[in-house]
Amino acid sequence: MDQVSMTPQERIEKAIIDSYDYGSIDPEDLAFILSLTPKDAKLAEMVFYAARIKRHSLFKNKIALYGFVYLSTHCHNNCSFCNYRASNHALKRYRKSPSEILEVASELTESGVHLVDLTLGEDEHYLNGKGFEQLLKIIDTISSRYRAPVMISPGVLDLSRLKEAKAAGASWYALYQETFNRTLFRELRPDQNFSKRLHAKRLARDVGFHTEDGILVGVGASTADLVYSVLSMTQGDNLQMRAMAYVPVPGGLAPDPNVDPSWQELLVIACVRLISPHAFIPASLDVDGLAGLGRRLNAGANVVTSIVPPSKGFCGVASMDLDIDNSNRSVKTVTETLREFDLEPFNHESYSNSYHVYYRREAIEANKFFSRDLPPNEVKMRRKFRTVFKNAFSGLKSFDFYYETMISAKQILSEFESEIYDDDNQDDN
Ligand code: SF4
Repeated sequence: MDQVSMTPQERIEKAIIDSYDYGSIDPEDLAFILSLTPKDAKLAEMVFYAARIKRHSLFKNKIALYGFVYLSTHCHNNCSFCNYRASNHALKRYRKSPSEILEVASELTESGVHLVDLTLGEDEHYLNGKGFEQLLKIIDTISSRYRAPVMISPGVLDLSRLKEAKAAGASWYALYQETFNRTLFRELRPDQNFSKRLHAKRLARDVGFHTEDGILVGVGASTADLVYSVLSMTQGDNLQMRAMAYVPVPGGLAPDPNVDPSWQELLVIACVRLISPHAFIPASLDVDGLAGLGRRLNAGANVVTSIVPPSKGFCGVASMDLDIDNSNRSVKTVTETLREFDLEPFNHESYSNSYHVYYRREAIEANKFFSRDLPPNEVKMRRKFRTVFKNAFSGLKSFDFYYETMISAKQILSEFESEIYDDDNQDDN
């Protein structure tokens, strides 16, 4: 039966089954799902339910909690969707000192977050010279003394800075593309380079980071654009992927009047979960505060992001102060909300083990791929699988229960390794 003659329910069932059978969803079916409106709540609930089942199959009822430290609101960029854009002269900005940053990071780790996300605008102070050295020391202190994984979100970094940040102890690199439509990208991120941004994530993975990408919804993308962005993002080897509704900013981009961005965010979360069941997918407190957490978890998210301690003068990103000083962005209140949905935080060991769900899956997929005939000059494919194997090994080596996968992947790697690296070097020169 073709899609046109199917009932809406049959189309959604087909999309869900395809996500199990092929690890993807037909673009037309994806467009159908992403076009559902709040009036189609019953159909949407089928998608959300399937997304929750997929989440449960890999992560059980466990949810990760990320602390958020927005350490500088200075930025030289002019993103049209952002309060912190350079041209917003009405904004009172701050740049926190290393001691202020460490104090808040310490409070977050003591409260029980699984990861500390160090975010900043593209601030010349912290991204160059002595400021960058200070940032490296902050990363080192949080990762070694506070024993917390550190995510950095400083904008586009070059290879040498990525290497230094990795050596200092950062393990995650977040860099949001926002859209994979280059025309829309230019509207959202004027004077920024689409390819360079995408490439920075590849470089980060090459030096051993886990990466996060993200899509912004409600900013004028057509359904086709959104489908393309979801498919591009989920094929990008990112361990974490976020969808975020646009919160209109004064003097910034006008919101798309044709979509309800918070609703569309839920649909994107669920579709990403169906296509990439192993992914970490944020439910951000930054858009609708604590009140919006439950519906994002119901759509298949498994990370609560933007936990910010009250009364320290640190801002959120999309919503600068929503739910911060009333303590609604704390581990305690978030955990209470999780319980209402029969969910609970990971313990710290199971959180770090959970990364390896992704790498195990990638190693298995790579095995399957290599069992087919590989055209000899598929440089891009080889590059992709170089990353897959590298990640597989860094992720798997301490996990006995993935031993068999690792051994067979290792045999394949030893056969292909020199060829893969030769191809890649030639391509880079
Ligand atoms: S989104 Fe980030 S890079 Fe863009 S203006 Fe805002 S802080 Fe700067």
